[in-house]
Amino acid sequence: MTVKPTFGGPGSYVIGEEEKKEVMDVLESGYLFRYGSEDDPNFKKKVFTLEQEFSQLIGVKHAVAVNSGTSALLTCLAALGIGPGDEVIVPGYTFIASISSIIVSRAIPILAEIDESLTLDPGDVEKKITNKTKAIMPVHMLGNPCQMDAIMDIAQRHGLLVIEDCAQAAGASFQGKRVGSIGEIAAFSLNVFKTITAGDGGIVVTDNDDYYERAFGFHDQGHKPMRAGVEVGKRSIVGLDLRMNELTGAFALAQVRKVDTILNTLREKKSKLKTALAKIPNINFRTINDQNGECATLLTLLFKGKATADAFGERAGTKTIAHSGWHVYNNMEQILQKKTSTLYPCPYECPAYGKDIQYYAHMLPQTDDILDRAINISVGVVDKGLGSGFGININSSDEEIHAVVEKVEKIMKNIT
Ligand SMILES: *Cc1c(COP(=O)(O)O)cnc(C)c1O
Repeated sequence: MTVKPTFGGPGSYVIGEEEKKEVMDVLESGYLFRYGSEDDPNFKKKVFTLEQEFSQLIGVKHAVAVNSGTSALLTCLAALGIGPGDEVIVPGYTFIASISSIIVSRAIPILAEIDESLTLDPGDVEKKITNKTKAIMPVHMLGNPCQMDAIMDIAQRHGLLVIEDCAQAAGASFQGKRVGSIGEIAAFSLNVFKTITAGDGGIVVTDNDDYYERAFGFHDQGHKPMRAGVEVGKRSIVGLDLRMNELTGAFALAQVRKVDTILNTLREKKSKLKTALAKIPNINFRTINDQNGECATLLTLLFKGKATADAFGERAGTKTIAHSGWHVYNNMEQILQKKTSTLYPCPYECPAYGKDIQYYAHMLPQTDDILDRAINISVGVVDKGLGSGFGININSSDEEIHAVVEKVEKIMKNIT
């Protein structure tokens, strides 16, 4: 069985017999719902097993599987009790879900700068703290772990909670600890553009028993973990239905078991590509916060000036990150216009946004400057929305890697 997708994350490119077997188990069992008869050997408990194996992989006590990464973020915010009036510091370069989940929770997103790692700048986080700040949401962008040592230090000094957005970084680690195990709680995504996938899906992880209980309740109508039945009359939270089903759980389970193989393959390919590109004059890269721990899903070039980056993009048939879509706050018109998920008149009377908080294009000059000079080359994530429609994929041969190097070399000769 070989799949040949034309876009998506590395997980999409390695779908094989393992996924097929897991899914067939469910089809043959007759159980599609995550809950089933414990004493029936036909009930395969794929979602439950996924939660067990994923929490072990990350190195935390608990996981809750949900139906998307966005649901996972909403669940994290609910678990921590973040709501009206609370400010959450989030980078201006991220997928919109990091920001929209805060708004839908009726809290206030405070946009902060990124640095040359393309992740949250700890120095700017410190500047954005007010007496309303409740949490920081570092996003491990493009598989690069954030500077979690500095971020956790700030959080501890100011008494803030940390929600890790690990949607783009399943399996990554920072200083030997898997991302998702460092802050209070974390969200992962399994959509097709991520490191591992199930088409759609998400996972929340935490080491804290109370946050776990609240997360579980939020994702399943207020029930206590595993709907053990003991909770009737004791449910203490109003929740939604964000559950994962057994088919998705089965597929995700096969992918979770492949994550380290995927990352090792990507690291090897990226290292070949990066070593060869580093020999070309005037080629520089974004900062990687943990060389051994990053996912290596993308290679980001960082040029000295915007003009060179634009010229490079034009010749490579791609765009700078600044212009490659809605991962950049400048391109999120509904945020800049203070829209919400309800019909409250905005911006003046909307409780989801602080009345004094302003959002406007180019409010983060450092972020704008960096993204204007940045070009993504795909290694494992092939996604035009990230500006990575150009590069290699997880199955690329040495010849294909070499062809990309030659292309970059040729472009650089023409523009410098
Ligand atoms: C993909 C992504 C999400 C949301 O995940 P979905 O599964 O698409 O809902 C959240 N945050 C970041 C940084 C992402 O890249």
